[in-house]
Amino acid sequence: MLKTMITGSLPKPSWLADAKAELRAPWAVGAESLAEAQDDAVRLAIADQVAADLDIVTDGEERRRHYIWGFLDGLSGIDTTRLAKKVTRGGRYGPPVPVPRIVGELKRTGPVLVDGLRFALGQTDRPVKVTLPGPMTIVDSVVDEHYGGSEADLAMRFADILNAEARDLAAAGAAIVQFDEPCFNVYVDKVADWGVAALERAAQDVGATRAVHICYGYGIGTVLAWKSQNQSWGEYGVTLPLLEKSGIDEISVECAASGVDLSVLGTLKTKGVMVGVIDVGTEEVETPDQVASRIRAALAHIDAERLIPCTDCGLVPRSRSAARGKMKALAEGARQVRESLVGKRTTAESPANR
Ligand code: ZN
Repeated sequence: MLKTMITGSLPKPSWLADAKAELRAPWAVGAESLAEAQDDAVRLAIADQVAADLDIVTDGEERRRHYIWGFLDGLSGIDTTRLAKKVTRGGRYGPPVPVPRIVGELKRTGPVLVDGLRFALGQTDRPVKVTLPGPMTIVDSVVDEHYGGSEADLAMRFADILNAEARDLAAAGAAIVQFDEPCFNVYVDKVADWGVAALERAAQDVGATRAVHICYGYGIGTVLAWKSQNQSWGEYGVTLPLLEKSGIDEISVECAASGVDLSVLGTLKTKGVMVGVIDVGTEEVETPDQVASRIRAALAHIDAERLIPCTDCGLVPRSRSAARGKMKALAEGARQVRESLVGKRTTAESPANR
C-alpha cells in the first residue's frame, strides 16, 4: 500500500535543455549527439527516482521538449515547426500561445515512445510508467486546418492513434500508461459530453494499468498567478464521479497546491487514486512530516490500499536539486505513514486483541 511515484516529468540537465527558462526550450546539443544525451538524461532521471526509493518510475520525459509535442512530433499530418496562435485552456493562463497545426491526414506511422520505454526498462527492475497526452488536451493544444469537424470528432481521431500507441507500450512492458488531461479541469461540460468517452477509447483494451492525470497546470508563473486568485475548485466534483463509472483504473488528482476540498476523493470508491502531496510550483522542499500529514488527510477519504502518494504535476520546471529533495520527501513521508498503519494492524491482529 501507499506505493509512490511522480506524475511524469523531471527537470532536464542544463547540458540537454534549459527547461527552466522555457517549457519548450530547444535542445542544447546537436542532432548528432542528441540521442546519446537523452539516453544519459534518462539514466540519471531513473537513478534519482531509485535513489529516492520511489516504487514506480518514469523516464522523466527527458526525450520530450514538451509533454504534448513529444508525442505529436511522432505523427504525420501535423506541423510542429510552423506554428499557429491559439487561446488555450479557456484563456485561463493568459494570451494566445504558439500551437502545432493539423495540415493533413493524421497518421501514426510507427510507435513513438516504445523505443524510449525499452531503454528505460533496461535501466531498472522497478515498474515503469509512460505518459501520453490525453485526447481533449491535445485537441485544445492544436489548430485544425485540415478536417474542419467538431472538437469531439478530432478527439476521437486522436483517441484511436493514442490507443494504438498505448497498446504497443503495454505490450513492450509499461506497467502503467497514463493519459495527461489537465483540460478536464477546464472544460468540465465537455468532459461529460465527450471527454471521458474519448479517454476510454484511448485506453480501451490496453494491457497495462490505465491512468489519467488531471491537474491545474504546471508550476510556472502564468499558472501560479491564476491559482493564486482562483476561488472555485469544484471541477473534480463533476469529473471524478464520471471517471468512477469509467474503465480507467487510476486517477491522479492535484491536492497539495490547489484549494481542492479533499472530501471529493470519497467519490472514487473503486479506483486507485494518485494523490498529489508534493507542490510542484515551489523550490521549497517539503519535509517528510508534511508529506505524511497530507497523506493522512487523504486517508480520511480513501483507503490506504488505493492511495498512491504522488506529485501534483510534472517536476520539469523545478531545479534538479529541488526535484530530488521532493522525491525523497515523497518516499519518506509515505514510508512513515505505511509503517504506522502496519504497526496499528499488527497490534489489532495480535492474540491479545482478538
Ligand atoms: Zn499536470
